[in-house]
Amino acid sequence: MAQEYLNYINGEWKRSVSGKTVDSLNPAYIHEIVGKLQASTAEDVDEAVKAAKAAARSWRKVSGAERGNILYKAADILEGRVDEVAATMTREMGKTLPEAKGETMRGVALLRYYAGEGMRKVGDVIPSMDGNTMIYTKRVPLGPVALITPWNFPVAIPIWKMAPALIYGNTVILKPASEAGVTAAKIVEIFAEAGIPKGVLNFVTGGGSDVGQALVEHPDVHGISFTGSNATGKRIAQTAASRGVKYQLEMGGKNPAIVDEDCDLDLAVNHVVNGAMKSTGQKCTATDRAIILRSVYDQFKEKLLEKVRTITYGDGMEEGIWMGPVVNEAQLNSVLSLIEKGKQAGGKVLFGGKRPEGDRYKDGYYLEPTVFENLHPNEEINQEEIFGPVVVLILVDSLEEAFQVANDVRFGLSASLFTNDINRALDFVDEIEAGMVRINGETAGVEPQAPFGGMKESSSHSREQGEAAIEFYTSIKTVALCR
Ligand code: NAP
Repeated sequence: MAQEYLNYINGEWKRSVSGKTVDSLNPAYIHEIVGKLQASTAEDVDEAVKAAKAAARSWRKVSGAERGNILYKAADILEGRVDEVAATMTREMGKTLPEAKGETMRGVALLRYYAGEGMRKVGDVIPSMDGNTMIYTKRVPLGPVALITPWNFPVAIPIWKMAPALIYGNTVILKPASEAGVTAAKIVEIFAEAGIPKGVLNFVTGGGSDVGQALVEHPDVHGISFTGSNATGKRIAQTAASRGVKYQLEMGGKNPAIVDEDCDLDLAVNHVVNGAMKSTGQKCTATDRAIILRSVYDQFKEKLLEKVRTITYGDGMEEGIWMGPVVNEAQLNSVLSLIEKGKQAGGKVLFGGKRPEGDRYKDGYYLEPTVFENLHPNEEINQEEIFGPVVVLILVDSLEEAFQVANDVRFGLSASLFTNDINRALDFVDEIEAGMVRINGETAGVEPQAPFGGMKESSSHSREQGEAAIEFYTSIKTVALCR
């Protein structure tokens, strides 16, 4: 019998008032229930927001250093439980165990980074035009904030929102993705063990249109940080704007990797394959398009196919498996439908393009790593986020054309250029419309201390992580002290 996971409200683990649960399934073996999550309602959300509101005043008065100590403790506990948390992640959403361990350790690094922020400045002194007055700014928390997270980074994303929210004195209601609620429950358990005071961190699972929407609409929620799809993000933005509350959205990408004539082709191949296929292509920063200069196109293609042929796929818990399954049936069908549209548009499938056959794959949402060519940059598969292990090779005649193709999409999250020419690298930095710009590196890749976020429709133009997080999780009070 699968374990039941509860909501965490006002320091207590509780069942939903609905009395119902939903199963979280293993995408590698869809008959295996990883855990039973509470199917919560607006009533549960209201209770969690009330708890967060009641705790807000006392938490805001706790010193940054004391808040930081709780985060340091949570980091140590998470580090001690890395194997268990990572295995839960792999079983729940499918990424391979080494990737899940890497992500969990990123969570540890994020907690330690933000614990240190508790000792840093929260304001400035500004000269007054009046010699008898002192002006200073003081950053203050927003109050209760709702954090709504996706399933593809079930440890890192909740932590990169929770850690800054808490260190700057906000109270939190976390609503994780339904596909990754068990993993998120483990993170909340760790915070509870680290001594987070009651009401400061609350956790409510359930459907997006029930729990998520109730949070976004709740009058006592003063900030909403969302990571997920553009469709959901746009709806959240409309509600938040109409309520006049602060919101932050990080959404999809359509990330290009440009392969220049003089680059190290082996390096480029490695990074393009990793960027496109690691985590089964289910990263907002995944490489969807490889844009290749004509003189190196054939050579690059050959080397890339050679590498793709070596990809082992299967249950991410098994040793030697490089790529796990797609997260669920809807996601699998969405990727298959884009592949079909690519074929109908005249695209040539160089590798993969379908579900693998055989007993080993029949119980999971598996998909072959897929490589396309011969598709116009305007085709749907080159315009919409794929979110699966698929990369399209696009041939261009010049770097200028490569920039144009790279930019000619509505997204602007991350982009790479592979080159050994510093001038071409600097031109790329100037021309590319992306928040995350990488030279000779994979389109995917973030570090906790550096700001992360997109341009165009990928983001609400705010930034997460690093020092940038303070901008969202605080408001500025300008104080004048007059003699
Ligand atoms: P999603 O379907 O938009 O879901 C994201 C979260 O929103 C989930 O917790 C979901 O709950 C919740 N939700 C759904 N409908 C809602 C509503 N009406 N009101 C409030 N909340 C609602 O996205 P996903 O499929 O989990 O994640 C994949 C997407 O995330 C991709 O587009 C990817 O690019 C993007 N992503 C972006 C970044 C970034 O930093 N830019 C990072 C990672 C992922 P349920 O799970 O219960 O439906």
